[in-house]
Amino acid sequence: MTEYGQHSEVIETAARPRGFSPKLGEALRSAVKGLIDTVYPPQCIGCRSAVAEPSTLCPRCWSSVKFIERPFCERLGTPFEVDLGGPLLSPLAIAEPPVFERARSAVIYDGLGRALVHRLKYGDRLDLGLAMGRLMLLAGRDLIADADLVVPVPLHWTRLLKRRFNQAAVLSSTIASLSGLPHEPALLVRRKRTRPQYGLSRAERQANLQGALRVRDGMEPFVEGKRILLVDDVMTTSSTANAAARALLKAKASHVDVLSFARVVNGP
Ligand SMILES: [Zn+2]
Repeated sequence: MTEYGQHSEVIETAARPRGFSPKLGEALRSAVKGLIDTVYPPQCIGCRSAVAEPSTLCPRCWSSVKFIERPFCERLGTPFEVDLGGPLLSPLAIAEPPVFERARSAVIYDGLGRALVHRLKYGDRLDLGLAMGRLMLLAGRDLIADADLVVPVPLHWTRLLKRRFNQAAVLSSTIASLSGLPHEPALLVRRKRTRPQYGLSRAERQANLQGALRVRDGMEPFVEGKRILLVDDVMTTSSTANAAARALLKAKASHVDVLSFARVVNGP
């Protein structure tokens, strides 16, 4: 049946004088939804072409996104080129074990994955936040199953003032509401304005973040003994996640896991 056919049938059903019944209520609801969809048809979050459901990707965009799936490093969540079987750690996770327990990301920060991160950051956030949060829910299902509390990586207040919202908090609130986990968006604070991490050496990154993140005064009891799920939009290196994990562990969190939408992966 064509879309037009569906709509006209629904409206006809809704207009028939049968008295109020749950069936009629349902028909009216679908008629209203039909009208809304006609005026504002759901769009693919990647290319804005028409899709059946809001907050989704069209098949073409779906196939162009590089999802991160096993095999990946069990600590850092970075994908491996070949499957060597069994749980694996990357050489980096062995050489420089992270402060956090496990990191997972939904997609590689590349192509459409990168475009979605940028669009979330600079506007266009409600539909995107929901769609990206859903993908993160899948990628982070093991972490979410173990978590007690969801916390976003904070922005410095001057950046928050400029941008008006923290994109990591948009994602963490979506994950909290989809999973039913408690959410503490103001638990971590960024004490100083840090330079972007990209392109800095490991020592520079550590110096850049030294003491930059801490648990807000008086909020330590929310952290003690809890397994925290730290959420960010994109993970470049482990430095920010490590600095946040260090602050949370100092406030006696039992474990810290990290879930980001995208992950920068170097090399071929
Ligand atoms: Zn698309």
